[in-house]
Amino acid sequence: MEYPWGHLKRYNDYSSYIKRTFGERVQKVSVNAGFTCPNRDGTKGVGGCAFCNNSTFNPAYCGPELTVVGQIDKGISFFRTKYQTQKYLAYFQAYTNTYGELEDLLNKYQEALSHPKVTGIVLGTRPDCISDDLLKVLSEWREEYYVAIELGAESTQNNTLKEINRGHTWEETMDATCRIAASNIPVGMHLILGLPGERREDLLNHARKISQLPVNFLKTHQLQIVKGSRYGDEFESHPDHFHLYSAEEFIDLIVDFLEILNPSIVMERFISQAPHDLLVAPKWGMKNFEFVAKVEKRLLERDTWQGKNYSESGII
Ligand code: SF4
Repeated sequence: MEYPWGHLKRYNDYSSYIKRTFGERVQKVSVNAGFTCPNRDGTKGVGGCAFCNNSTFNPAYCGPELTVVGQIDKGISFFRTKYQTQKYLAYFQAYTNTYGELEDLLNKYQEALSHPKVTGIVLGTRPDCISDDLLKVLSEWREEYYVAIELGAESTQNNTLKEINRGHTWEETMDATCRIAASNIPVGMHLILGLPGERREDLLNHARKISQLPVNFLKTHQLQIVKGSRYGDEFESHPDHFHLYSAEEFIDLIVDFLEILNPSIVMERFISQAPHDLLVAPKWGMKNFEFVAKVEKRLLERDTWQGKNYSESGII
């Protein structure tokens, strides 16, 4: 059976989306442009989000001591040995990549786009750092380049956002998502499944709420406790405050989540892997491709697929 996304996989996967968009494989290469974050510099808060140690976002090949082009070159030489890829997207990943003076932001993005192998940019950011001035420029650039924005939503519940010291609300996430989409810029969303206080049903409600928004692609990941974060300290003294999913439990959760997710949303990732030396728990010891294979197997066993129980009203 061919699914609404035009192939036989039981979910709307990101690598097929990339091939549909570019006609070939395109690799993301991470860039740390040296920006900061309003939840660390005091503008929104200090200390950052409870789960965050930003070192977990940075591959070894990128660091702000190198220029943007220098980091891209290093990233390309890293990937060249693994994949036959000719095109790259510069992924501004560390911290908040739309937070700063407009001119400075644009200069950094332009530097990435000046690289001959870079065909577009993806900007990771917070929903409360998206100005209309920036959207106007990026929307014009879209005529020439691929430009996408990836929002860290993390949860759709305001009580959770407060508990993790996120410094923005779900309403701000909805507003930013709609403004980005209205500017004709693809919008991605990032969600952590398993934050303290959220029951399984709350996690499935995330899928229902996100399905009502013009989200193009979605990344989920399990809550990971990492050293150097507030949760890293709390876990040491009160591990019972956290429900950390086993890999098996998380596979079933993802399958249930997919069943109610809007089939038009591309799933970019299910899990994340913090660097070994920073990860406290859970230690699944499973690579991303292994997890994906298990999700595909479970979808087959249950004879289900993304959007099978999706309802446009959000109520099932
Ligand atoms: S997760 Fe993002 S917004 Fe939160 S503290 Fe870390 S860099 Fe800042």
